[in-house]
Amino acid sequence: MDTLKNYINGKWVESQENSTVDVVNPANQEVLAKAPFGRKTGNDVQEAVSAAAKALKDWKDTPVMKRVQPLYKLKQLLEEHQDEIAELITLECGKSFVESKAEIQRGIENVETACATPTLMQSEFSENVATGIDEFMIRQPIGVCACISPFNFPGMIPFWFLPYAIACGNSFILKPSEKVPLTMIRVFELIDQLDLPSGLINLIHGGKESVDALLDHPEVKAISFVGSTSVARYIYQRGAANGKRVQAQGGAKNPVIVMPDADIEMTSKIIADSVYGCAGQRCLAASNIIAVGDHGGMIRDALVEAAKNKTTGFGMDAGIEMGPVITPESKRRIEGIIAQGVAEGAGLLLDGRKASIDGYETGNFIKPTILENVALDGELIMAEIFGPVMSLLHMETIAQAIDFVNQNNYGNMACIFTTSGLNARTFRNRADAGNIGINIGVAAPMAQFPFSGWNDSFFGDLHGQGRHAIEFFTQTKVVIERWPSEWTRKF
Ligand code: NAD
Repeated sequence: MDTLKNYINGKWVESQENSTVDVVNPANQEVLAKAPFGRKTGNDVQEAVSAAAKALKDWKDTPVMKRVQPLYKLKQLLEEHQDEIAELITLECGKSFVESKAEIQRGIENVETACATPTLMQSEFSENVATGIDEFMIRQPIGVCACISPFNFPGMIPFWFLPYAIACGNSFILKPSEKVPLTMIRVFELIDQLDLPSGLINLIHGGKESVDALLDHPEVKAISFVGSTSVARYIYQRGAANGKRVQAQGGAKNPVIVMPDADIEMTSKIIADSVYGCAGQRCLAASNIIAVGDHGGMIRDALVEAAKNKTTGFGMDAGIEMGPVITPESKRRIEGIIAQGVAEGAGLLLDGRKASIDGYETGNFIKPTILENVALDGELIMAEIFGPVMSLLHMETIAQAIDFVNQNNYGNMACIFTTSGLNARTFRNRADAGNIGINIGVAAPMAQFPFSGWNDSFFGDLHGQGRHAIEFFTQTKVVIERWPSEWTRKF
């Protein structure tokens, strides 16, 4: 099996690293490919940065209207190849084909939004700030930008950054997760068909070594990272210490409050979709469900009903709603957290640990799991599980529930289900999270809004997507100029 190649300076080239890591189908452990992984991937970074720096020279002065033209073609190519790319996502990442297609759609929406860069980059102008003096602010590119992406959305997350970066006049280097590099390789085969300067967009493989080389390279001016909190914090600190602009999205632990006035059946279905979609491997997956007031056991029964009907299996098979988790280690870790919660007194309403799928006996499957009476300071409640596990809690008032929501170190998403406008407003105002859902289970911002995140879920100032991306990928220059009227009198 050949080792995957890097895409540098408009060509597919071999990595300088000989060691590899297997890319594995999590549904059956089939080895799909071998990706370069090791110390010398750091040397590949040098090559990619040189190519990106060279491409930048003409690109930054190319009119913005011209810079967005290849994005229209990219949108068309992504749409034409959507099924094929979605299949790759399912093969290497495990999610269902329907989820994979929806993921690509989100990527396409970012390409579409970035096509508005000519308007989004427009300057601000003030005439006569003092007599005969005008002042304006322009946005200019920052240089070579790099993105390091996680395993769980291989077809979407690079698009939170890539189209905006190049439309703003920068060059770009992507380092996908070593667990799921195939999706972006296919996308880069499409990017190769665009009319872009060689070296403008590059792809390199690897793990910590290639990331560290990007963080330390003086010509890399900006880093966009999405992944776990511990790595996000590290990336932010090392990148910022090296004088780079950094946006680093981290992990999550997302609470959902259900008020007694909510429609229980609809709410439970939406919550189950949120908890179990992508097998819980989503930074916007609901995890802690807080039933407020007296639901008379209805919420418990409705959640179990909605969860137990989720069909689990290989994501390319018809009707499958939930695939495997990414690795056997991940499965063991999740099952360990469930076991520990039970040892601490939690009750299992639904136990998905002994999942065996016909034909996929070696897959990393866990079926929907629900626990109740969980210790509030235990891992089940406090830690990011990243698996199909729900903890059901009961509290008496909305005030208690919001205090509980705000105790968590993360702050990616918080949701409420209610028919009361006042409850919704109170929650929206007081919940400490960057993405708020009101009667929504996965509060994923559309491409024109920033993909927010608070506390340990985000390090930096400007997020991916929309206007924030435009601001992140440009530096402002303020020009103040005087044209005294006395000078014109000479003519
Ligand atoms: P991860 O942190 O293990 O890896 C992410 C990237 O960092 C990969 O490309 C990996 O090669 C690299 N990396 C890993 N360890 C590194 C190290 N020590 N030094 C430098 N680079 C390193 O994350 P993952 O397991 O791939 O993805 C899942 C995580 O991503 C979850 O915590 C999830 O919540 C988070 N996530 C967050 C968002 C968000 O918007 N906040 C979105 C998607 C995923």
